[in-house]
Amino acid sequence: MPEASAKSAPQKAMEKLGLLRDIDLALHLPLRYEDETQLIPIAALRENEAAQVEGVVVDCQVEMRSRRQLLVRVKDESGSLLLRFLHFYPSQQKQMSAATRLRIRGEARVGFFGREMVHPVVKVVDDDTPLAQSLTPVYPASAQLPQAYLRKAVASGLARADLREILPAGVVPSGLPSLKDALHYLHHPPPNASQVALHEHNHPAWHRLKFEELLAQQLSQLQAQRERALLAAPALRGRPGGLHEKLLAALPFQLTGAQRRVAEEVAQDLARPQPMHRLLQGDVGSGKTVVAALAAAVAIDAGWQCALMAPTEILAEQHFRKLIGWLEPMGLKVAWITGSVKGKARQKMLDAAASGEAQLIVGTHAVIEDKVKFARLGLAVIDEQHRFGVAQRLALRNKLKAMDLEPHMLMMSATPIPRTLAMTYFADLDVSTIDELPPGRSPIVTKVFTDSKRHDVVDKIRMAVADGAQVYWVCPLVEESEAVDLRNATETHAELSATLTGTSVGLLHGRMSPADKAAVMAQFSGGQMSVLVATTVIEVGVDVPNASLMVIEHAERFGLAQLHQLRGRVGRGSKASVCVLIYSAPLSDTGKSRLKAMAETTDGFEIARRDLDIRGPGEFMGSRQSGAELLRFADLQEDAPLLVAARALAPRLLDEHPEAARRQVARWLGTKAEFLKA
Ligand code: ADP
Ligand code: MG
Repeated sequence: MPEASAKSAPQKAMEKLGLLRDIDLALHLPLRYEDETQLIPIAALRENEAAQVEGVVVDCQVEMRSRRQLLVRVKDESGSLLLRFLHFYPSQQKQMSAATRLRIRGEARVGFFGREMVHPVVKVVDDDTPLAQSLTPVYPASAQLPQAYLRKAVASGLARADLREILPAGVVPSGLPSLKDALHYLHHPPPNASQVALHEHNHPAWHRLKFEELLAQQLSQLQAQRERALLAAPALRGRPGGLHEKLLAALPFQLTGAQRRVAEEVAQDLARPQPMHRLLQGDVGSGKTVVAALAAAVAIDAGWQCALMAPTEILAEQHFRKLIGWLEPMGLKVAWITGSVKGKARQKMLDAAASGEAQLIVGTHAVIEDKVKFARLGLAVIDEQHRFGVAQRLALRNKLKAMDLEPHMLMMSATPIPRTLAMTYFADLDVSTIDELPPGRSPIVTKVFTDSKRHDVVDKIRMAVADGAQVYWVCPLVEESEAVDLRNATETHAELSATLTGTSVGLLHGRMSPADKAAVMAQFSGGQMSVLVATTVIEVGVDVPNASLMVIEHAERFGLAQLHQLRGRVGRGSKASVCVLIYSAPLSDTGKSRLKAMAETTDGFEIARRDLDIRGPGEFMGSRQSGAELLRFADLQEDAPLLVAARALAPRLLDEHPEAARRQVARWLGTKAEFLKA
């Protein structure tokens, strides 16, 4: 036998699908089923319906019609059927010679020559060849991975896989079969199985599978949480009369009750010698930044450094300015690290971070690069955390491990996480919620127009500007072409500059140099510029309180969360704010429901709920899911009761049957478990 034989194409294709272990194969479930358990008379065939018949060949020949084809006529007691093959081998012609009995599966149609099937599946049989005993599974296959090969592989994986019960008796919700029975049922359902229940994943066998998956997921989250509790972090306490109190005194406003409450929750976490892992959620404009600044002040006061990472350069820059404004008067040094800080300036910043001279380091993804070292990092703040991928968050945690201590982590998000998602993907996160906006905000009124009303909108802008207001005009991102995207923004800028004579109209887009972007933003926030035409570079975080009118063009092209974020750029001051959504018809159903949601509510939690309804949890989770499809079977909306059961069982299992818990996670998650900890 050869020692190492080269892998075949189907083997490689299987590896690519992650079908490596027997258990992976056993968990590779059919997309649908074919019924080969029954025969019907040829006369009972119905147009376009898949069925199986048996007949004897009466005629088999190659003919030249419009093209060369093999025509085979078969008969049973009820009638006759023509089989038509446009591609065929000479061997097939021989195989289907006259008087042969064939079992035929396919979709019939009624053609010029009566009933026919094009390229049916054909098998030579005897009078007494038995019918299939169960429905035939059809798996997600591909050109490199033929169905027949996959069927065999799955069947043998299923036979070999260790499917012995891991869970102790009595813990699985009643009425569910064992995992082994469930899998055998789903791969090979009996002839009388309800195809509807199978298709809708609404069969006890499916429920068992989903429960198992959810349980593994809950266990791994709980484990991560307990492991984290064993890690050491510096206990950070602000001194009485220290930075934290000075900052509070220096703020031009009073904290809201909600801000005070969450700041206190964060302070309590920081004071513990275990790493904080807290999500701070609050609607756009609810004032999360100052809570982060207070946390930073506590960390710095205790003699440690704080890093703050934001997803865009504009946002990082804005944080940088705000924090410098607050902290430098108190004698602190803030360093600034982004991709565009280069050369000597960059080296200076890196040195300041590495030596500890800079107490606060603000930046973009650049902060997690290998070159960036910290002297004593005590706290990492991630703003708009949903914009970062799992891998990036992991990298941040891992790189910051110094002195065998973990930093505290504070993640911030304006996209509130619906309950079922929070219970699954964020089960090991503590959550603080700012549920109150700073006082004096007037609600944003949202209006929806078709693009035929664009002129009226421009008139509105003229009036608003005359009134001293500042305006954002957002042009959509055209996925396929950044060039087109840019042209739209540039043209709109030219058009508005020409129409709004005497008004200063600026332009901001992703291709501009960071210095140019910063200059434009400075003019707009300084009030020298009235109208800012921008692409979605302004989506998150940008804070110019005097801006009170936002126009979003081609609003139908944006996601709901994105629209809400964009709209959050206005309504930040005391001026009554308006958001105008311009769309071009025709609207898709989801487009319609998105615009409707925007017009009906400004509550970020309600928006998130509707977004989840519209998109489903997979897409809603975005980057967190990319890299690993974390829940393959369970549906968080439909399977909430199973989730609740799994969630209740997880701590009991971990405490009372730790070995079973470990095996459950290994069986289901394999290498994916790491991802769940980010
Ligand atoms: P977000 O939660 O969206 O990140 P920001 O932190 O950018 O919100 O805050 C939005 C605006 O509200 C900023 O201009 C900020 O200075 C201001 N702000 C924050 N807290 C208060 C408060 N308690 N009272 C008044 N204004 C506040
Ligand atoms: Mg913010």
